[in-house]
Amino acid sequence: MRPIIGITGNYNYDEDLFWLKKHYVTSINKAGGTSLILPPVDDDNILNHYISICNGFLFSGGGDIDPYYWGEMPERRLGEVNPIRDSFEYNLAKKILGGTIPVLGICRGCQLLNIALGGSLIQDINSRLPHVQKAPRDYRFHAIVIEETSLLRRIIKSSQIRVNSFHHQAIKKLGSGLKVAASAPDGIIEAVESSVHPFVIGVQWHPESLTDKYSYLLFRSFIESCKRNCT
Ligand code: MN
Repeated sequence: MRPIIGITGNYNYDEDLFWLKKHYVTSINKAGGTSLILPPVDDDNILNHYISICNGFLFSGGGDIDPYYWGEMPERRLGEVNPIRDSFEYNLAKKILGGTIPVLGICRGCQLLNIALGGSLIQDINSRLPHVQKAPRDYRFHAIVIEETSLLRRIIKSSQIRVNSFHHQAIKKLGSGLKVAASAPDGIIEAVESSVHPFVIGVQWHPESLTDKYSYLLFRSFIESCKRNCT
């Protein structure tokens, strides 16, 4: 049985269209799931319907989250924000993070989970290690160290791997129930996971754009967890 994975979609204001990069869908499908792209909505009944249909949720990458959500004013280096997407994903995350449905957050998705759990973000990283790589998307640009006692470590089975990097923001204060699962050498948080929920993982890199075995293991493990949650 293939679990249905709801993947949060983007909204483009200029073109008035919903969209999602293909690799999220192909990674989920290849790992044994069936992808369903979820257009942002502000209707509570439709949100609940999404939740009743899906066996797991993937919060996809994208632009910056409005710092309004963690009680800060915008800073000069904040990027573009997307109010329709912000409120949709925030409301969806709020609804599901109290339950047991598996959740994977990628890049913005990782940050979104942290915000929905009451955490905060660095609006613009200031580090010697560049986290917006000028290299192909599938190139693994910097190292991360994975925490020994983490779920992520049990999945990836390695203490240190290299990942790609396309983020200028990062987690500042951890959301409640989250712990650090991996960090970059400059201390930037590269992955978080729930210490109370069976499967909530957020990664700051883009495993859907990589072809290494670790990325596959992560998607595979997410799908397996969604299967267990189907009954
Ligand atoms: Mn990075």
